[in-house]
Amino acid sequence: MKYDSIVVGAGFSGAVAARELAEAGKTVLVIDKRAQIGGNMYDAPDSNGVLVHWYGPHIFHTSSKEVFDYLRRFSNWQPYEHRVLGRIDGKLVPIPFNFRSLDLLFPDAQAKAVKEKLTAAFPNQQKASVLDLMNAEDETIQSFGRYVFEKVFLHYTAKQWGTPPEQVDRSVINRVPVVLGYDDRYFQDDFQYMPENGFTPIFEAILGHPSITVRLNCEANEVLKLDREQGRLLFENEEFTGPVIFTGAIDQLFGYAFGQLPYRSLNLIFEQEPVTDFQPAAVVNYPNEEAFTRITEFKKLGGRQVEGSTTILKEYPMQYDPMGEKGNIPYYVISSPENLDRYRQYAGLAGSFPNLFLCGRLAEYKYYNMDAAVLRALQLAKTILGR
Ligand code: UDP
Repeated sequence: MKYDSIVVGAGFSGAVAARELAEAGKTVLVIDKRAQIGGNMYDAPDSNGVLVHWYGPHIFHTSSKEVFDYLRRFSNWQPYEHRVLGRIDGKLVPIPFNFRSLDLLFPDAQAKAVKEKLTAAFPNQQKASVLDLMNAEDETIQSFGRYVFEKVFLHYTAKQWGTPPEQVDRSVINRVPVVLGYDDRYFQDDFQYMPENGFTPIFEAILGHPSITVRLNCEANEVLKLDREQGRLLFENEEFTGPVIFTGAIDQLFGYAFGQLPYRSLNLIFEQEPVTDFQPAAVVNYPNEEAFTRITEFKKLGGRQVEGSTTILKEYPMQYDPMGEKGNIPYYVISSPENLDRYRQYAGLAGSFPNLFLCGRLAEYKYYNMDAAVLRALQLAKTILGR
């Protein structure tokens, strides 16, 4: 066998882990079932010349200097602060819901009263969870919390996850806070930048190491076999004893032995509009009336500007079905206690292969952001290299 290690998947988890092993002097084979690298971060210009994220919008943000310093080696980055508007009662207001959203939707005197109560109840706090506001002792804050929950979270979450919001893990809802002030950025992280030429060139740079070989259009299940009785991995029918980093769907790797791990998927509808400007923000959320959750206008994510046309994306959430014509990409893990139990069974099975390492959203069944995926891959590589 020509390679010291094998990495399955060329998204952030796989690419970063591969790079770390290569820089430590190992030869690495990276395989990916798709025809291109970059996983769901893959972007490329469409026929209008607009840089489009073909698997949905990816906006980079992190508070980890380590992650940002690492990624800066592979691209120039330009400052980009993401701002989102949401359509509520026919008005476009900032999301996360903030004091400006309050001013736009509430009569002046009421807005003033709520802001005063919030400031007094949460001194020195820039944000709060809508769930905590709903449980606050003060009645004004409680009813404000219920208002925001109903207008921003209730229907959006029901659409996005296909279940009532009570069944969705708190950590999902808490990704989007209520901001106790006028900061109208979607993220509050220290580093908010987008890659100057898009994400795909970053993957080209990360994987562009002389010790890394990339093989595309290559299904893991066709080349990688698991000998469960002896805890051995076979690559193209030969025993492989080096590290295998797997970043794909773990249930599929094990032939769905414990049943499928459920995911939410998306039906992505791209449209080209003959206008320079489609909407006043890069992303507009539709928590209430529409069947889609949000519209992204790609040229507003910091890329090259094109006159006279623009490309937008509507996201229609749907159940994941690996065999379906639509909804066949596992985008979001559904972290219910039952699903996590099932995941642990798979992880236990994976543990019986000493040279198999799971990494990333699909393999670890975890809602990683891009920065957390990079950090996890860096740490895993250290573990494998014994550092
Ligand atoms: N969410 C919501 N209304 C919004 C935005 C978000 O209810 O206007 C909830 C919803 O449950 C969603 C979660 O917050 O799944 C996380 O949103 P985020 O924008 O972080 O999701 P992602 O960009 O990862 O799809």
